[in-house]
Order: sequence, then C-alpha cells, then structure tokens
Amino acid sequence: MNTGTHTVEEVTLARLPSGVELTTTIHTYRGAEDGPTLYVQAAQHGREINGTETLRRFHERLPLEELSGTIVAVPVANPLTFDLVSYITPEEFDSVNPNMNRIWPGDEGGSLHQQMAARLWTEVSRADAIVDLHTGSPDMYPHVVYREGDERSRALAEAFGTDLLLSEEADEDANEEWHRRGFAGKLRVAAAEEGIPSITPELAHNKQILEDAVEEGVEGLLDVCRYMGLLPGDVPERNQTIARNHLGQVTADGSGLFRPEPGLEVGQDITEGTPLGTVYDPRTYEPLHEAVADRDGILYALTREATVTAGDQLASVALVREE
Ligand SMILES: [Zn+2]
Repeated sequence: MNTGTHTVEEVTLARLPSGVELTTTIHTYRGAEDGPTLYVQAAQHGREINGTETLRRFHERLPLEELSGTIVAVPVANPLTFDLVSYITPEEFDSVNPNMNRIWPGDEGGSLHQQMAARLWTEVSRADAIVDLHTGSPDMYPHVVYREGDERSRALAEAFGTDLLLSEEADEDANEEWHRRGFAGKLRVAAAEEGIPSITPELAHNKQILEDAVEEGVEGLLDVCRYMGLLPGDVPERNQTIARNHLGQVTADGSGLFRPEPGLEVGQDITEGTPLGTVYDPRTYEPLHEAVADRDGILYALTREATVTAGDQLASVALVREE
C-alpha cells in the first residue's frame, strides 16, 4: 500500500564571495493520492524562528498516509539572517536589497537576495497556495495578512484561523508608503500577483519559541491543508475579526525610554485617545511623549524593547473592517 513519501533535498540558493555555497533544505511530502500543492516557508527574517519551529512540529504531526497532493516546506528560507538572528542581511552580503522580503520573485542574475528568492520561486510558482510564516515585534497579537479584495487569499487566511485577520491594499490601491517601502516585493504580494492565493501569518514575537504561537501555527497549517483538500476533514467555523493592515502605527516623537501603559495587552480593543505609554528622558525623568491611540481599533503590536529613538514604532492599532 502506498502511504505517501517524505523526501529531503539540499539546494543551493546562491554563492558567497568566498565561494562557499549558501544552501538550504527543502522537505517534500507527497501523498499517495493526487491533489493540490502547498508551498510553505519560514525564516526569511532569520530571527523569526517560531515559523521554523512550527514546521518541525508540522512535520511530526502531518499524517502522511492521509495526504492527497504535495506539500513543499522550507524551514530556513534565509540561512544568512537565521545565523545572524537578524531581520535583514548586512551590506557585505547584499548592499542593494538587505531585506529578502522585498525582492520577490527574485532574479537569477541579481543581488544575493534576488538569487536566493529566484531559486525558491521555482518551487513557489508550481504551488496552488503559499504560506509565508513570519513573526512580529517583541509583543504582537498573532494574525494573518492577506491582500484586500483577493477572495481566494482571504479564504486561505480564514482557514489558517487566527482571531485577527489583516487585509492589506496593494498596487494602485495602496498608499505612497506601501510603494516607498517596497512592499510589492513581498513573497505574498508577488505570489498573489501570479494568481496564487497567498498569506502571511504573523505568529507573534521573535527570537523565542512561544508555545501558544507555535501551536497556533501548526493547527493553522493543518487547517489550511484541510481547506485545500490535502487532508481529510473540515475547517471549523470561526468568529474572526478583519481589520486593515499598515495603518494606525503610533511612533515615538522623541528618543528615550518607552514605558508601555501597565495593563495594556495586545489583542485588546481600544478607543481613540487610549494612553499607550510614555517616552521619557532617562536622565532628567522628563516625559517626552505621552503616546495615545489615534483611532478606535485593535491593539495588535506594542513595543516592549524600551530604548527607542524618535520615529520608532511604539504600537500598532488595526482599524476594524468586519466583525
Ligand atoms: Zn518577517
């Protein structure tokens, strides 16, 4: 009886200046029955390790004998940032495109990140759906981002199952900041542009393995598989809130230490004017900025790393679209 297969392949993403080959590992799970293909990756931003841990547990829990179709999983999409426990790559490696998640679908003849992405894109372009696992700032409420108006991506996000979904405008619907920050080059956006439904789960925190976030990630992937028909079973009915991504960022007016308002927690509903915390001068104790919410919404990120410079993000409040 055919029970499905799991294969592991080491692939070269790019060549470093010393001649050392930069490689990563691709896991392919093939079911006994035909079906769709899911591509899932983690750690484009190497400090965002909850996605990597999610894929390890997903590997343990995936019932291969029940699989119909193919799952391609890349636990460490960017080994450079992974080793540096960083978000971006230092300029020695890629002075043109330090952030790997701004250059999809990549370019074989381009900068290092473009070459890495181009190699992974050969897998991405064959898939019927994409899950790009990320995690957030030090204190972030788990959520899934998808493209506003893209109903197939929205359905994928709903299947993944976090309580909060954030939809993001793209291309001509997006604001100037979206374009300036190169968001068109995110894997999720580039894949959706090719007609492949695509989501970015943000599994909360970085650098630490958080049990709840990882469990939410594993259950989310299994439900995505059920939704796609890769696994038998139904996705449960859920009560999710849909809000808008990339608006309502509250930034520091001055540099100093940021003390978040005690008792404030991510995931909380807040109203315009809600105190978020104080930036104060660490030497004179003078308060420099009393940060308040600029809108009603859901507090989904709150900065816990206290030393901030002017312009740093202190909190993010998502504007609710649908409940
Ligand atoms: Zn990320």
